[in-house]
Amino acid sequence: MDINQRSRLRQVARAFRLVSLASFIAFILANSAGCSPAAYTEQPDPAPAVETTLTPPLTATATSVTPPAVGTPTQPETPSVAPLLSTSPPVRSPIVSEAVRVTSVIDGDTIEVRRADGSTDRVRLIGVDSPESRNRVEPFGKEAADWTRRHLEGKVIYLEFDVRRTDRYDRTLAHVWLYLPDSLSEPEIRSKLFNAVLVINGYAHLMTIPPNIKYVDHLQGFEREARNTSAGLWSVDTNSGLGAGAPAAPAPRGAGGYVGSSRSDVFHYPDCQWAQRISPHNLISWPNRSAAVSVGRRPCKSCDP
Ligand SMILES: [Zn+2]
Repeated sequence: MDINQRSRLRQVARAFRLVSLASFIAFILANSAGCSPAAYTEQPDPAPAVETTLTPPLTATATSVTPPAVGTPTQPETPSVAPLLSTSPPVRSPIVSEAVRVTSVIDGDTIEVRRADGSTDRVRLIGVDSPESRNRVEPFGKEAADWTRRHLEGKVIYLEFDVRRTDRYDRTLAHVWLYLPDSLSEPEIRSKLFNAVLVINGYAHLMTIPPNIKYVDHLQGFEREARNTSAGLWSVDTNSGLGAGAPAAPAPRGAGGYVGSSRSDVFHYPDCQWAQRISPHNLISWPNRSAAVSVGRRPCKSCDP
C-alpha cells in the first residue's frame, strides 16, 4: 500500500465517521423534538383544576360568627353554638341573621335562646300572637306552646331582626328561621320561617306592630289559609262567627279584632270613629281584647271596647 492509497483510505474512514455522527445527531434531535410520546408521559398535566374547588365567598349573612368562646364554663354537656357553626359550610342567604340555640319555650310565640357568646335572651316572634298558655289559659294556648316546644326546643335556629330590635319588656323581637332561606320566595318563607309555619298551622294569629312588618303580607295570606281550612285555633273559633260555618246571627263586635295606633296607648273596635282616623302607617291590630290589654293598652273611652 503506497502513501496515496493510505491517505484515500483515511479519507473514506473519516467520511464514514462523519456520516454516522451526523445520523446519530439527527436521531437524537428527532427524539428530543417530541416524536416519542413516551418521553412525556411523566410530565404533569398542566391544566389547572382550580376553579371547581373554589368555595363561594361568604356573604355578609347568617353566620356572623363570633369566635368560639374558649374555656367558657357554661353547661359543657350541651354542645354550644359556636363549634357547630365553625364546621358548617359557608351559606349564601338573602337574610342577615344570627344563629342561636333554643334553650326553652315559654309560650307558642316566645322562646329563650343562648347566643354563641354564651349569653341568653328571651325572644318574642314578630308578627304573630299565640293564645296565652300560662297565666290565663286561652283556647289552644297549651297546644300552641307544645307545638312550638316540639319544633324548636334544643335546636339551632336563625334570628332575623327587623327595624325595632326589642319590645317594652326588653324581649328581643325576631323572625325565626328554621333553616336559612335560599331566597325570599313564598315557598321558602312558607316552609322555613317559623313565624309563618305557626300561622299556617293555626297556632298563632297575625299581630302586626309597626315598624316590624317585613313579612306581614305573607303572614296575612297564611292566616287566611289557616282560617279557610279551620286549622288549629280556627277550629275552636267556629262559633264566634270567624269560622267556616259562620252563623246567621251578626258576629259580636270584637270578632274582627281590635286596633290601635303606634302613637298612642289606646285600643278600639275597628269601626270606632277614632280608629278610622289612624293612618295605615301606624295601625296596629290584635286578635282579641286580652292581647291588646296584655301589651299595656287601655280601652278607648268613646267606643269602650
Ligand atoms: Zn275607640
